[in-house]
Amino acid sequence: MEKLITDFLDILNHEQVLTGDDLKSRYHHIWHMDKPLKVKALLLPESTEQVSEIMKICHKNDQPVIVFGGLTNLVGSTETLERDVVISMERMTTIEAPDLQSRTITVEAGAILENVQQKVSDAGLLFPLNYGAKGSAQIGGAISTNAGGLQVIRYGMTRNLVLGLEVVLADGTILSSLKTIIKDNSAYDLKQLFVGSEGTLGIVTKAVLKLVEAPKSRVSAFVGINDFSKVVEFMRFVDQGLAGTLSSYELIWKTSFITLTKDPSVERSPLPYYYNYYILLEGLGSDQNVDQQRLEHLLEEALHQEMILDATLAYSQSELNWFWRIRENVDALVAVCQFDQHFDISLPIHSIGDTIASMTEQLEQVEGVTHVFPFGHVGDGNIHFIIGKTSEADTLRKRINAIVYEPIKSLGGSVSAEHGIGLHKKAYLHLCRTEAEIAVMIQIKKTLDPKNILNRGKVLDLN
Ligand SMILES: Cc1cc2nc3c(=O)[nH]c(=O)nc-3n(C[C@H](O)[C@H](O)[C@H](O)COP(=O)(O)OP(=O)(O)OC[C@H]3O[C@@H](n4cnc5c(N)ncnc54)[C@H](O)[C@@H]3O)c2cc1C
Repeated sequence: MEKLITDFLDILNHEQVLTGDDLKSRYHHIWHMDKPLKVKALLLPESTEQVSEIMKICHKNDQPVIVFGGLTNLVGSTETLERDVVISMERMTTIEAPDLQSRTITVEAGAILENVQQKVSDAGLLFPLNYGAKGSAQIGGAISTNAGGLQVIRYGMTRNLVLGLEVVLADGTILSSLKTIIKDNSAYDLKQLFVGSEGTLGIVTKAVLKLVEAPKSRVSAFVGINDFSKVVEFMRFVDQGLAGTLSSYELIWKTSFITLTKDPSVERSPLPYYYNYYILLEGLGSDQNVDQQRLEHLLEEALHQEMILDATLAYSQSELNWFWRIRENVDALVAVCQFDQHFDISLPIHSIGDTIASMTEQLEQVEGVTHVFPFGHVGDGNIHFIIGKTSEADTLRKRINAIVYEPIKSLGGSVSAEHGIGLHKKAYLHLCRTEAEIAVMIQIKKTLDPKNILNRGKVLDLN
């Protein structure tokens, strides 16, 4: 048996060290469960101290390590090579009782996002991080990707929801700051370095999360608009009118809306197919009747002013679920594509209409492109694209990438609004970060992980 494995067995028991045939049922991503994992070993630590001991061994042996959370990332950041050792956080799932006074909760990194939401909700509070992968994504994964999701315009990204963090560094050092305080200007905010670092700077083992009071009302509407300038005008109008309770403002382009609503899992479309843009908006407030009436009046006024052309409100929980099923039914878009390519770009909000129209026109002319499906969290400038295509050829992938990514630099956007860089977007990082920024990132990486063992080859290229 390789010395490295016997070293692991000195600190972990046999069930915590998987090698050989034990890896056959393991995979690197939830969408590739049919591809067995080929790595040196997969380790299942049960405490921060065990993660630290593992890293001391890996550091001493220059052993590359990849951390596995819920394996739902969309940028290839958990792709492995045979040389790698994997640390899976799945056994570190403790969720402490919420602290009702400080409105915080302390959780281990392997806790599933949905389980955290549930525990918080049982205590009458809300952890306002929400997205389609919540049933599999772990808190450590959400922190390491700085996940966004459906309520960013109101509550911010994961970064805004982390008050304390415990991290194991590449050499095994435990960096622990599990404070529950909101304000702390005592020198550098080190925890923020690890948020969004995609497992390249340290291993998150525990976090203190910020909670908010649970809303008592939830109002949603679908709205039809033809002109993109009205999408922006209406967003400001409804945000002002809802007095700070607007929590989602999702935009679906017509082609995407038709495919989403014609899917068999959706009974019918909430609006006719006359419009260029469909907005799903939601307000989380304190009084269902009052908030419903307020939204009704706002929609009537917006119709009267011809800011919007059509609107329909959800009047029951089942209608609310129906509306959100449409928005979250991304699988329906993927299902009509033979092969698919995903994007997650950020653009200044005023430029979204023209830029997406131009990209769509160019993409539709590319031989091999069959579908262009834009949709996204337009309230925070984040547009997702799913492109359907006839092959997985590298030339086609790069041609599509060029059309979507090249305008980003001059527009001041980002190649990744929320999914991260991983492997898939590494070659395009320079389009949204300056040379000086990338040089500082490399210095930070070299300082915290001088042997480049943490998620080697992801996010940055080191010489
Ligand atoms: C259906 C679907 C919908 C999605 N919707 C959204 C969305 O709306 N918004 C959004 O932002 N994202 C979305 N995502 C992608 C998002 O990045 C992931 O869902 C999630 O945040 C990653 O969590 P995970 O536990 O699966 O991490 P993984 O995929 O396992 O890992 C992601 C990265 O983090 C690292 N990592 C994982 N755990 C740790 C840890 N404890 N310490 C250090 N590094 C770690 C990994 O090495 C890897 O680099 C979606 C994904 C899917 C499949």
